[in-house]
Amino acid sequence: MAVYQYRCAEHGVLEVARPIGTAADSEPCPGCANPAPRVFTAPRLALGSARNRALIDRTERSADQPAVVPAPQSRRAAPQAQNPALARLPRP
Ligand SMILES: [Zn+2]
Repeated sequence: MAVYQYRCAEHGVLEVARPIGTAADSEPCPGCANPAPRVFTAPRLALGSARNRALIDRTERSADQPAVVPAPQSRRAAPQAQNPALARLPRP
């Protein structure tokens, strides 16, 4: 079995496992049933075990589709001056 990639314009990349040499030029997208054209990629032969491939896939996917997004850092309020005359001084 080989994994072939197809790209739907709306839903992105989908992977289909087929026997080697039986890939169609397009596959129906499971999301919208429109034909998704085949994407030619390098064969995944030298990437090691399935565990390693899963790790590499997760790493590549996290670059543009992160599962966890850090919260924006909140700005701390400027400390209030105790002396009212200090509050009138110019700020940087
Ligand atoms: Zn689609």
